Amino acid sequence: MKPNQLKRARSETPGCNQVLHFNNAGSSLMPEPVIEAMLDHLELEARIGGYEAAAQEDARLERFYDVTAQLLNCGRDEIAFVENATRAWDMAFYAIPFQPGDRILTAQAEYASNYIAYLQVARKTGAKVDVIPNDDHGQICVEQLKAMLDERVKLIAITHVPTNGGLVNPAAEIGAIARSAGILYLLDACQSVGQLPVDVQKIGCDFLSATGRKFLRGPRGTGILYVRREVCQQLEPPFLDLHSATWTAHDQYVIRPDARRFENWEMNLAGKLGLAAAVEYALAWGLETIAERIQLLATKLRDGLKQVAGATVLDLGRQRCGIVSFCLAGVSGNDVKKRLARQQINVSVSPQRFTLLDMQQRQLEHVVRASVHYYNTEQEIERFLQVLRTIAVEVEPT
Ligand SMILES: *Cc1c(COP(=O)(O)O)cnc(C)c1O
Repeated sequence: MKPNQLKRARSETPGCNQVLHFNNAGSSLMPEPVIEAMLDHLELEARIGGYEAAAQEDARLERFYDVTAQLLNCGRDEIAFVENATRAWDMAFYAIPFQPGDRILTAQAEYASNYIAYLQVARKTGAKVDVIPNDDHGQICVEQLKAMLDERVKLIAITHVPTNGGLVNPAAEIGAIARSAGILYLLDACQSVGQLPVDVQKIGCDFLSATGRKFLRGPRGTGILYVRREVCQQLEPPFLDLHSATWTAHDQYVIRPDARRFENWEMNLAGKLGLAAAVEYALAWGLETIAERIQLLATKLRDGLKQVAGATVLDLGRQRCGIVSFCLAGVSGNDVKKRLARQQINVSVSPQRFTLLDMQQRQLEHVVRASVHYYNTEQEIERFLQVLRTIAVEVEPT
């Protein structure tokens, strides 16, 4: 990214003047086109009525499917707009008919909401949850996964980039295995979509969930579900309404054929337009450009943290992304976060219970999560490290 591009990215991000935002894995700063798309629609709804505004903006609302399909390299009929990533993921997961003895293979760093769903479904159906061990790099071990396969494996469900660190799991290698074994593959791509190029054809997943507010820089309360055309019609969504299905006779209904069978009728249309704008904005920068810039900043941040007395970088994996996890000796994560916040620096803390298996295995109660985006700067990293050094000194026992 060239200096003038960076300047533009920052001038189009009002929050840059207010905060040093290293919480892009929590909720990124929205750029102007996203904010405008939402405000415009709210104003239109207020002026002419909600249904009337929807009718007037129909073409732009439909564009959500085109730009999101472009982002993920799929068909527009394979995209659903859902209120968040968890519900998007749930709509796919709870649609799968599990039988007693069926196996679900997942990963060590799986996200709590997903794992809770496995446990609930296992309890209800008699399916079994098995965890694929990590390799020496701390990412999912592809060889072990191969060894675990048998005819009872119904689903492989993993997280591309876990919520609590820089690890990028080998999603495409796992996809190749799932495809050749004919096993359903559900990918939680909440933290990867928007920061890395994510191509569902290359990955070979059947379902993918993503959220609007994180690296995509869209509004809160928005999410995306991708469902591969070939599996879509074989799965009945856990909930139906008059949008996902049509009531055709007193005892009959027909479910719509495309991925919108996983949507609700009522949705946040301002949010949908905001998310469409966010996707277009990301596409305009280019995901390769974004990923490259994030890589540069994250590497600089990790290198800098190694020079801060008492700081330990905790990221795993062979390939690492824009989420930088660390701890500071003698200071709790919440204290680090609070002290940074006093200087208008935003980070988040990821507690053990969000990724229980991984954090217990590594004996971590929590990690501080500093997540960078392309609009962040090297000067911000310098300032961040400087403030962190003063925190480390402040709390040093005398
Ligand atoms: C944030 C996150 C989610 C949940 O996304 P929501 O939009 O809040 O539902 C799921 N998985 C991972 C890995 C996450 O980091």
